[in-house]
Amino acid sequence: MLAVVVDKPFGIESLRVTDVKEPGEMENGVRIRVTMGGINPLDYAVVNGRVLYNLNPPLPPHIVGSEIIGVVEEDKYGFRKGEKVIVYDRVFDGTCDLCLSGNEHICRNGGIWGVVTNGGFTEHVVVSKEALFRQGSLSDEVAVSIPIAALTAYHALMRPGRPPPSLCSSTVPLETQASLRCR
Ligand SMILES: [Zn+2]
Repeated sequence: MLAVVVDKPFGIESLRVTDVKEPGEMENGVRIRVTMGGINPLDYAVVNGRVLYNLNPPLPPHIVGSEIIGVVEEDKYGFRKGEKVIVYDRVFDGTCDLCLSGNEHICRNGGIWGVVTNGGFTEHVVVSKEALFRQGSLSDEVAVSIPIAALTAYHALMRPGRPPPSLCSSTVPLETQASLRCR
């Protein structure tokens, strides 16, 4: 399958589209066909081999991309083949004190999917079922902005501890509202 890969030495001149191996099976993993990706400053940093949030740069060759949506390719763990899903771009263990307090995005033993793991600018990925969210009625454009663009806005709004009241009074996902409010 094709993928956007950065190889040694880091830098945009080492970025290319090339053939890579299909992803293998993974415990609790669900196979996804990637349909859209978002490009972020994070990708620029990864391509240039920069340390992000104290996370070591990946070992090249590395598949770039941390913000993607896709379609489930198999009935597995409650997900149905053909379902549209959003890939949450955090790797987390679910057991440390930060995860247990609802702060899995800063898990002590985790990192950013696409930085500490291969990313999603490719045709197929296998992602932990815990990192998949159903897209539902969200448009592709909004859905693909949720993992990084919207969640960054969400955390910026929530960190002061006083989210706007309407953020808590709707059935629309908070992340989507935060994204829309910050545009
Ligand atoms: Zn954790």
